Amino acid sequence: MKPEISVVLPIYNEEPVLPILYQRLEKVLSENFKIYEVLLVDDGSTDNSLTLIKEFCHQNTAYKYISFSRNFGHQKALLAGLRHASGDTIVLMDSDLQDPPELIPQLYNKLKEGYQLVYAKRSIRKGESFFKKVTAKLFYRILNLFAPIEIPLDTGDFRIISRKFADALKKLPEKNIFLRGQMAWLGFKNTYLLYERDPRYAGKTKYPLKTLLWFAFNGITSFSNFPLQIASFLGLLFSLVAFFIMLYAFYSKFILNQVVTGWTSIMVSSMFIGGIQLLCIGIIGEYISRIANDVRNRPDYIIEETNLNTHYPCKCGTE
Ligand code: UDP
Ligand code: MG
Repeated sequence: MKPEISVVLPIYNEEPVLPILYQRLEKVLSENFKIYEVLLVDDGSTDNSLTLIKEFCHQNTAYKYISFSRNFGHQKALLAGLRHASGDTIVLMDSDLQDPPELIPQLYNKLKEGYQLVYAKRSIRKGESFFKKVTAKLFYRILNLFAPIEIPLDTGDFRIISRKFADALKKLPEKNIFLRGQMAWLGFKNTYLLYERDPRYAGKTKYPLKTLLWFAFNGITSFSNFPLQIASFLGLLFSLVAFFIMLYAFYSKFILNQVVTGWTSIMVSSMFIGGIQLLCIGIIGEYISRIANDVRNRPDYIIEETNLNTHYPCKCGTE
């Protein structure tokens, strides 16, 4: 029989959190659902997470695991879970207990009111640094400024989706995954539930500034061609300015009979334009590298071990 609900949890070095997560999650699921399934996706953890994960799966057959051959990143881990989830509804959530498992029944009930997607929206974020809150706020706003579709503000990946939604999502072929964006792009009837985001139970964030910036950059370039358009716009603007400077140069040479002596100004302007050109080439390069990624068509991740009844090695990307 199909599970009523599948819960997908990406796990990267969460050893201290896992026992409590298991307890809280198991309590919520067993009290509220008849048949459920939990997919624990180990994203190449280097601590004892995988051993613990295997123990849970041993104790409880509702728990399945997928273990990657290395760290492929949070989004890929979610994707793997999504692809293998067999439930009627699928919950995506972090495994550090920042997303409280106790919210799952509410999300489920809301979805059953006739939505295909219900996302959990953070009303407050506890236990996170001022810097993290500001960068997160900025991230969502900048993203929406650039992206042609509206991506909900202040929501992470904590959400529940219906089977219909998951099947549509699995059909998207692109390699640069940014699930929040892709889900917004899909449409369907959706709504949100407000919740208070708890502090991380233990350990520290796996999203240091470098990763966060990369994530933001990926989000923007996967969802908008605006950076490419900036390149053309700047190009146009500077050619126009250059044209007027040229007119002025002719004017001063032939009418005013003054030879232009400004070596500095020429240097400065040529450097400036050189800089803009490099910038534009860089942006174009970025998009081309994305095309190259799609053309290479490498699998999204490699599964090293799993207790799912799937082919090994998995037919990643084709499922
Ligand atoms: N995570 C992962 N792979 C990574 C980084 C993070 O699977 O490369 C998982 C991590 O274990 C957690 C979730 O993704 O369950 C969110 O990560 P984290 O809590 O570090 O991010 P933050 O909440 O600080 O944005
Ligand atoms: Mg977290």
